Amino acid sequence: MPKKPLLEFTDKGIYCAAGNFYIDPWKPVDYAVITHAHADHAYFGHKCYLAHNLSREVLLYRLGEIQLQTIPYGKTVNKDGVEISLYPAGHVIGSAQVRIAYKGEVWVVSGDYKTEDDGISTPFEPVRCHHFISECTFGMPVYKWKPQVQIFNDVNNWWRGNVEHGLATVIVGYSLGKAQRVLQNLDLSIGKVYTHGVIENTNEALRRNGVILKPTERIIFESAKEEVRKGIIIAPPSSVGTPWMRKFQPYSFGYCSGWMAIRGAKRRRAADRGFVLSDHADWDGLLSAIDATGCESVYLTHGYTAPFTRYLNEIGFDAHEVHTLYGDDEGEDASPQPSPEERESRENNEIANQVLSIGEDLGEAGKDAI
Ligand SMILES: [Zn+2]
Ligand SMILES: [Zn+2]
Repeated sequence: MPKKPLLEFTDKGIYCAAGNFYIDPWKPVDYAVITHAHADHAYFGHKCYLAHNLSREVLLYRLGEIQLQTIPYGKTVNKDGVEISLYPAGHVIGSAQVRIAYKGEVWVVSGDYKTEDDGISTPFEPVRCHHFISECTFGMPVYKWKPQVQIFNDVNNWWRGNVEHGLATVIVGYSLGKAQRVLQNLDLSIGKVYTHGVIENTNEALRRNGVILKPTERIIFESAKEEVRKGIIIAPPSSVGTPWMRKFQPYSFGYCSGWMAIRGAKRRRAADRGFVLSDHADWDGLLSAIDATGCESVYLTHGYTAPFTRYLNEIGFDAHEVHTLYGDDEGEDASPQPSPEERESRENNEIANQVLSIGEDLGEAGKDAI
């Protein structure tokens, strides 16, 4: 009889029977190891949580009073003889890959990750393993990120131009990760940084956790309109098209997301500017990360799982597509509403037509890309 694998994919999430714990489960369990604090990975209702030190305050802010143990990268927790340790995923502040070792067998669960050093999250570190469970949100060759310094030059130039033209500047990115990454790369000689309440709450949680962020000012009802107009306003995706945003008129509105790489995405968001900025690995990043693990087999949890799995098998990996409820934190704010499933299906539907032809050519195009 073949040996039972150390990790299994169940209807509650990724499960380790030997240690009796789950990784990023989406239904209530006794013991949950959490890769990062985005809503599709960190659900409410578990008895015990284990996460990285830098996820602590954001998890408490988002989930309320929970029983939470936090550890630094590299430290091992022993659960029923199974070793659990966390390694940097480079996705957002506090994000971790989970390494699970038992009787000489090593698995790594990536959570969400990116390979570019964003200057604010601890940079991604490849971890050797036998079996790698990876995301592939942007697992298509068309997704190839430019260095962030180029993107932030564009952002700062756009902001400067708006000030010259008397327009307010609203930049949208999700509240945990993108918002702080944008903030840290803004040129504050241009003006002040204002924040939507959801983003400022997250900033405050991170500051409580010892993270040093550039100064920000929460927008309140009384905020002086002319002053705000000279600054830049960081807002979450959920604020797009709301009266809250309209009160800054006239304004220019920029959207930061990996999806902006696809023609038409900017128009659908009704954005004036689309900045191709993602906290997920691009095509090359995914391939290099998977390769660096030296793994025997790889499991793809979310994103372009079907074509990406097919491609990995074509180039000689033992790759498997698995079903999970992890969603898309690039398109929408990673707050509890709407559900990850809704977000995922909506995003996938939106871009399905655009990438169909790319998907059909994936084999050839992909080979060119690496
Ligand atoms: Zn995420
Ligand atoms: Zn995710």
